[in-house]
Amino acid sequence: MPGFEVFGKEEKKEISDVLETGILFRYGFDKERNGNYKVAEFEKRFADMCGTSYALAVSSGSAALRVAMAALGVSPGDEVITQGFTFIATWEAIIESGATPVFTEVDDTLCMEPADLERKITERTKAIIPVHMIGAQANIKEIMTIANRHNIPVMEDTAQASGGKLGGQHLGTFGALGIFSFDPVKTMTTGEGGMIITNDKNIYLNCSAFHDHGHEHLPNVERGLDNRRFMGFNFRMMELQGAIGLAQLAKLPSIIQEQKKNKKIIKQVLEKIGGINFRRILDQDGDTATFLAFFLPDGEKARRFNQILKKNNVGAIYYKDNTWHFYPNWDELFTGTTLFKSGWPFKNTVSGADLMYEKDALSGTEAIFERLLVYPISIKMPGDHLAAMIKTIESAGKEVC
Ligand SMILES: *Cc1c(COP(=O)(O)O)cnc(C)c1O
Repeated sequence: MPGFEVFGKEEKKEISDVLETGILFRYGFDKERNGNYKVAEFEKRFADMCGTSYALAVSSGSAALRVAMAALGVSPGDEVITQGFTFIATWEAIIESGATPVFTEVDDTLCMEPADLERKITERTKAIIPVHMIGAQANIKEIMTIANRHNIPVMEDTAQASGGKLGGQHLGTFGALGIFSFDPVKTMTTGEGGMIITNDKNIYLNCSAFHDHGHEHLPNVERGLDNRRFMGFNFRMMELQGAIGLAQLAKLPSIIQEQKKNKKIIKQVLEKIGGINFRRILDQDGDTATFLAFFLPDGEKARRFNQILKKNNVGAIYYKDNTWHFYPNWDELFTGTTLFKSGWPFKNTVSGADLMYEKDALSGTEAIFERLLVYPISIKMPGDHLAAMIKTIESAGKEVC
């Protein structure tokens, strides 16, 4: 799963280029930086990999979502539709933008259910954020068809699927823009970091200015002597992160290749157990193999199966109980818990109505998650660990299925 597993001499070499000059900032210092523009180079290579015209590196995946929404003009009074299975950062970023998150069901792709998306579009819908969850594709083509019919821009949250594809095309390039995360547990990591990719020059220029206090970043004008296009904030990436990103990006194909090998070994064992099914993956070749998601026949069996796995130290993730990724467990949403006495952002919204959510609003997603177990796949899985996993899975299968 995470790129930190392969952190090595390549990353150290890139970092030492930066440390030798002491220039840690991505802009300016042209004389002192000895030709090192690590963040800019990282952006260029990332865009090249994805086949897009523009890439902007930012301080995190959450920042990428926030900046991208600003670039699309999302603001208080708007609704943004995302799915009820995602990392909380997706809905936090919508709330940080002042907009109202609207949640769809997921289907057996574990990503946005297109039919439910269509039902949830209103005249206030300003953007749609499908999330390519746990390493593989959302049904992005169908989602694009619906979004285009309503003329609403799509932001692909590709935080968990760097390097993933659908029909040979990189995830993050189907919509108006795509965002990525390089946090410590993502497929490639810069410790903290994120990226926004787009083919739209206007969106890129908006992102670039918004992420740096409104600076225009003109080629021949010193930063600071330029005009401020509008109010922004600071979501910049620093040179050390760009340096690490360059080394990690070069390793991404081999990371995915190793994960595919390990995933296949474990999947073959599960396939032999009657009653176990797998998450629907729209394009196996384009899977990043960061996770292996499988279904037991019912919830009771899923829990029992995982109890046996856990007892033998090879437990899977039961997302139904996970408080970070699964809608019914996001208690702040239902209780309106916030740091602020005023109740903002749940109260005093621009629309005049409080934000209100029901825990049981996504019964379809809940039914799917009842039966779901997920293994994170590592790049390095030592033979003895794999052997222990296989043995335990086989005996759990005999006992439960
Ligand atoms: C990790 C993640 C983010 C946020 O990225 P950070 O770099 O941790 O801020 C956003 N969306 C999803 C789906 C994620 O998994």
